[in-house]
Amino acid sequence: MKIIDIECHVLLADDYDASFTSSAQDSLLVVLKTDDGIEGYGESDLNPWIGKACIEAPGTHTMGLSMRDLLLGADISDISDIRAIWEKIYTQTAMNGRRGAVIHALGALEMALWDIAGKAAGKPLHALLGQQRDTPVVPYASLQPAGGSFEAYRDALCASARDAVDLGFKAVKAECTMNGPYAHSGLNESYDRHTEVVAAVRDAIGPEVTLMVDVQYLWRDAETAASVARDWVEFDLYFLETPIWPDFIDEHRKLADMIPIPIASGEWLATRWEFVDLIENGGIGVAQPDVGRVGGITEAQAVCALAQTRGLPVVPHCWKTGVSISATAHLAFARPEIAFIEYLPPQLCLEKLRRELAHEDLVFENGEIAPPTKPGLGVEINWDAVRAYKVA
Ligand SMILES: [Mg+2]
Repeated sequence: MKIIDIECHVLLADDYDASFTSSAQDSLLVVLKTDDGIEGYGESDLNPWIGKACIEAPGTHTMGLSMRDLLLGADISDISDIRAIWEKIYTQTAMNGRRGAVIHALGALEMALWDIAGKAAGKPLHALLGQQRDTPVVPYASLQPAGGSFEAYRDALCASARDAVDLGFKAVKAECTMNGPYAHSGLNESYDRHTEVVAAVRDAIGPEVTLMVDVQYLWRDAETAASVARDWVEFDLYFLETPIWPDFIDEHRKLADMIPIPIASGEWLATRWEFVDLIENGGIGVAQPDVGRVGGITEAQAVCALAQTRGLPVVPHCWKTGVSISATAHLAFARPEIAFIEYLPPQLCLEKLRRELAHEDLVFENGEIAPPTKPGLGVEINWDAVRAYKVA
């Protein structure tokens, strides 16, 4: 079975807002086709024009070959071929970019290869990955409020947190992003007001529901982070996500020594090798690979294995359409150290692509997701949405 065609669709919602803190307004959807008529789907969370260029750019020398050319004609008759193809592309595109966008784009291709392998075998992807979990996967509701003022932001967050609990979610994550590089909609609020928001959300959901908080790189040093986050210990947080800019590994370690709240990080990292540094030297308490960005399902599995040897839970990042969410869910059924997955039912999401692009084979019931049963990722693409939102 050979790859005979590669499509890269750059998708952009027609209502996108560049000041909105959500990367689910665009998507890079890749479609791989085989000579026996199977289509595989993959997706990654990066600027989709850049991702498309990473895949389609012509090669110019031995260590800067074309990802597309390397993949066309590749044989994937066996699942071990997927790793061999990944290694070949990783090596022969090393000078196109050994980390970052090139790896994120490679992740979308690798995801699509797994989808093909599952469909060819007639098995859901988690079965191919070696299912190790016979209990349901527990999702957490990732809450990204709209609202252009402090009060609107706080109230929207509390309202959506209550809605999530009413829907049966056992865990919620509050995006508390009112300052710093990721500040939503131009907000520029004090740290005290961040504390006020975390307190309000905990109050809204009660003491039993697991609460995570994401401040999205709010601080650059451990001292400042700890001076605020110490006040959050009383809110019983499962983790504090990305408190520190990712380059400052030493500051992660210092912060971990200063506060008892586990630090979660890793959503932007590419390859298992970047996680080695974060886990070994950053003192994090929770690893957060994003299946596409890290380089694909096999790389995410490797991060899980590394975390497992250190006794760390994994809570993958995923803020994309049903393609990536399905890949993440299948991974979770194969990796028991995954404590939660990031998930919102499409009808609760503001983003059109999340609601319209893909129908996933995931059933959310009683706060849990049962193992999907359709072959491969189990995703159906809505081609009307692809046509409607395709810009390149
Ligand atoms: Mg985050």
